[in-house]
Amino acid sequence: MRITAAVLESAGAPFTLQQLDLAEPGPDEVLVRVDSVGVCGTDLEFANFFPTPAVLGHEGSGVVEQVGARVTGVAVGDHVAMSFASCGECPLCLGGNPAYCRRFDAVNFAGRRPDGSSALSRDGAPVNGHFLGQSSFATHVVAPARAVVPVAKEIDLRVVGPFGCGFGTGAGAVLNVLRPEVGSSLVVFGAGAVGVAAILAARAAGCAVVAAVDVNAGKLDTARLLGATHGVHSAAGDPRELLAAIAPHGFDVAIDTTGREDVLRTAVEVLGPLGRCGVIGVGPSERMSFDWRSILNGRTVTGIIGGNSLPQVFLPRLLDLHAAGRFPVDRLITYFPFEQINEAVAAVRAGEVGKAVLTF
Ligand SMILES: [Zn+2]
Ligand SMILES: [Zn+2]
Repeated sequence: MRITAAVLESAGAPFTLQQLDLAEPGPDEVLVRVDSVGVCGTDLEFANFFPTPAVLGHEGSGVVEQVGARVTGVAVGDHVAMSFASCGECPLCLGGNPAYCRRFDAVNFAGRRPDGSSALSRDGAPVNGHFLGQSSFATHVVAPARAVVPVAKEIDLRVVGPFGCGFGTGAGAVLNVLRPEVGSSLVVFGAGAVGVAAILAARAAGCAVVAAVDVNAGKLDTARLLGATHGVHSAAGDPRELLAAIAPHGFDVAIDTTGREDVLRTAVEVLGPLGRCGVIGVGPSERMSFDWRSILNGRTVTGIIGGNSLPQVFLPRLLDLHAAGRFPVDRLITYFPFEQINEAVAAVRAGEVGKAVLTF
């Protein structure tokens, strides 16, 4: 079928809207008409080196229009969130940790299906896609059935897409992995969409102190409005001292969403004994470094991909939390029509919006 997609012609170029051909779904795939899709930092990162021409986009939601012959559990007409792909067969997938699938890169970042084919083409020549199980900067997507999660039809599909990545990454780090105790303290570095999702999850988990650290005063205001108990402007002084005033014995949990070396170091150093630091963001720095003595007190540093969630289990729970008014991430969203994808990207890059979502 003919679809409209935002095509990346070369690394770092703006997206251009074009007509492409989309093949029928394979036996284990579904065809989804995209309703909306979030713009995530990961799209912008991969736009710098993904093999082109390509279609990116990985926070899509939509309606299933066709299912492959072997598909069960997803039906035509279902409303779905799209999430990352995984093989479903390796020990990590079978153990309930598909975000650490042994074939994660092959099934999410190769631009093709594992057999080398692409569902996307232009004038008969393949176009790279299958990005994080979708490539949803397009009106339609062919996705692996195991990467889509049916959601209740009462939920506004326009808020659902980012639950599959950004919101789920922040909330999953807290609720699936770090699991702070009721009454404990937690600090989040970076108050973007991922950071605020972590903050909301920390409140839902019963943390007494939830501090947000950022360089952007507007983002701190939003974080406080949505539940952070403290906002720390990182240019207002040494963040270590400002945070020590909030948690004199150190934080129980710290989360870094920035991927910046100096921030990562601070995130470790503000922990108390037995404190745990979750590293969940991709950022500009190659390294993380700290004095080895700073982890002798039983502190732990752990990397977390995608909130280590099992999407079919975690997304519906998170959406229930949202429906109950306890995870109001929709207040972070600014909507753009699909045609304005480059304007949305610019707004994300400039830090002007918490979460940009394109609508079709
Ligand atoms: Zn696997
Ligand atoms: Zn993402």
